[in-house]
Amino acid sequence: VVIVGAGFGGLQCAKALAGAAVDITLVDQRNHHTFQPLLYQVATAGLGADDIAHSVRGIFQHQPNVTFRLGTVVGVDVESSHVLVDPGPALPYDHLVLAAGAATSTFGVPGVAEHAFELKSVAEALALRNQVLTCFERADVEPAFVADGGLTFVVVGGGPTGVETCGALSELVHRVLCADFHALDMSAVRIVLVEATDHVLGGFHPRLRAYGLERLADMGVEVQLAAAVAGIEPTAVVLASRERIAAHTTVWVAGVRAVPMADALPFPKGPGGRITVGPDLTVPGHPSIHVIGDLADARRTDGTPLAGVAPVAMQAGRFVAQAIATGEPRVFRYRNKGTMATIGRNAAVTELPLGLRFRGFPAWVLWLFVHIMYLVGFRNRANVLVNWGWNYLTYDRAARLIVRPERDGSE
Ligand SMILES: Cc1cc2nc3c(=O)[nH]c(=O)nc-3n(C[C@H](O)[C@H](O)[C@H](O)COP(=O)(O)OP(=O)(O)OC[C@H]3O[C@@H](n4cnc5c(N)ncnc54)[C@H](O)[C@@H]3O)c2cc1C
Repeated sequence: VVIVGAGFGGLQCAKALAGAAVDITLVDQRNHHTFQPLLYQVATAGLGADDIAHSVRGIFQHQPNVTFRLGTVVGVDVESSHVLVDPGPALPYDHLVLAAGAATSTFGVPGVAEHAFELKSVAEALALRNQVLTCFERADVEPAFVADGGLTFVVVGGGPTGVETCGALSELVHRVLCADFHALDMSAVRIVLVEATDHVLGGFHPRLRAYGLERLADMGVEVQLAAAVAGIEPTAVVLASRERIAAHTTVWVAGVRAVPMADALPFPKGPGGRITVGPDLTVPGHPSIHVIGDLADARRTDGTPLAGVAPVAMQAGRFVAQAIATGEPRVFRYRNKGTMATIGRNAAVTELPLGLRFRGFPAWVLWLFVHIMYLVGFRNRANVLVNWGWNYLTYDRAARLIVRPERDGSE
């Protein structure tokens, strides 16, 4: 079995095949699993990188039927059943599980790829953390930089990630950096959330969306709704209305599409370049090739698409493992256990099946609990728990470090 991607789906699939009589090669372009839902906390100095990432080899130390291969998958030769990996030899497979996830979608907006910060990997989260902290250092000695939008942070995309990033940035600025920078006027800081639709937290009940907006306003985040971005420049965001927001930092969390690898695969694609799969999560005409998680255009029996969220990928990973182990094709049915997003300290929204909705402190506690439970590895769980406890009690952000490579390949 070759599994491409050690994300939420790939890991669950490999783990669920622990007792099966199969040899698994798990390929990933990175040597670690990334807990993407908490990347924004790394970007805003709430957590360290190794709190939310875990070495893949470490995860499978005690599962001898898994071999890890570090490399980028660049194609699949379906005729000879080989996965093409760069660098190194191709990998033969009897069963292939494609779980390579999603990449940022720029929607063709000029300047996004060149000037915006993205939030899909640990490296990108650290780049954003460096940028935010460096802007404050520069503003401390260069008043003209502030006047030019040096302390304006624009986040594009009002989904859960955009809302969470704005809330965490606001807390970093108004609870921590305001005490660090004695001479800096924090009223010059602007955090602007730009969203193309008329609401934030799409997918949540309107009452929870309204609560999200209220909390963001309380935290000093300026929300611009029904505002489409026409272009991003190094020091400005240009809206379709022609308004220019002077900003040296733009975070783009407006949408995702399939990873570039998908473009090279000879399979039918759905919206966002995702690979079309049947009800058993195999590619039509290729019963030994499964696609799961964010890479798959998987649908419910009524034709509605499954969301690109971690629980869908995890359940699909376990489902495919069972299909491979038993050889029995079945229909994948996603069990929705709810959705949640946090806005800041004591403030979150949670929507559970059967119309159960929470907001504020109870939702926030539930959010903390679920995220700790789903982190990979006891050490990461313990670290995050201690860090969050410390941050909560002291308002501290110990990870507010600017760390850049000083020579090629070394820090
Ligand atoms: C910032 C952010 C916040 C999020 N917040 C939430 C949340 O709160 N709740 C929630 O449920 N979901 C959230 N999500 C979505 C969730 O993270 C994804 O749905 C989930 O990661 C999908 O799992 P996956 O296994 O399909 O892909 P991933 O977890 O993305 O894993 C894909 C893996 O494939 C590897 N890979 C990619 N291309 C190649 C290649 N060519 N060769 C080799 N390896 C490759 C990658 O390195 C990666 O390790 C968030 C996502 C982001 C980016």
